[in-house]
Amino acid sequence: MVFTSGCNFNCLYCHNQLLKNKTSAEITEKMIYDFFIKRRNTVDALTITGGEPSLYGEELLDFIHRFRNMFPDKQVKVDTNGSDTDFLKNLKETADFIAMDFKSTNYGLFSEISDEIIKKSLSILSDFKNHEVRITVYPYYIPENDFEKISEIISMSGIKNVSVQQYRPVDNIKPYSINILNNFKNILENKNLSVIIK
Ligand code: SF4
Repeated sequence: MVFTSGCNFNCLYCHNQLLKNKTSAEITEKMIYDFFIKRRNTVDALTITGGEPSLYGEELLDFIHRFRNMFPDKQVKVDTNGSDTDFLKNLKETADFIAMDFKSTNYGLFSEISDEIIKKSLSILSDFKNHEVRITVYPYYIPENDFEKISEIISMSGIKNVSVQQYRPVDNIKPYSINILNNFKNILENKNLSVIIK
């Protein structure tokens, strides 16, 4: 797993606080290649996560191309917050699996990205054979009375796979009970989505 630094969101529950700001590179491409050469028979996949990988745009896409040329038998997964629709479109040519966060019906709470951009990204994501939408159920961003609306947005975009993730407390907002998470899962499943709780 490779972490990129810098993020264009400011989620209150972020557990990668140190990666929110861009730092100077600490690992080189060569280090990644050497790692895979050494573990050619034991490591199957490279995951690129953040921070927010899409901030590296073309630079990152070029790296993924080079990686694939060197290791054609390895899988590449990319995590994204869905803020860059062009980046997502270009990933179609390069990545095997994309996981995108869905964070709220009101992205203005923690970013300058509009809710419409996120809907477009969901729709692009739905074209990937292997995709997942991850919802961290932070009650302040995802109030219970938004469950139905969120299910509607996600199913309308053509998405098939969703994971509902419990939020790990960083403030005094209590996580939802497992019953509430199950209720959310049921609402999503009623829209023909395949759902797991993590
Ligand atoms: S999008 Fe991810 S990395 Fe960025 S602030 Fe939110 S939780 Fe943290």
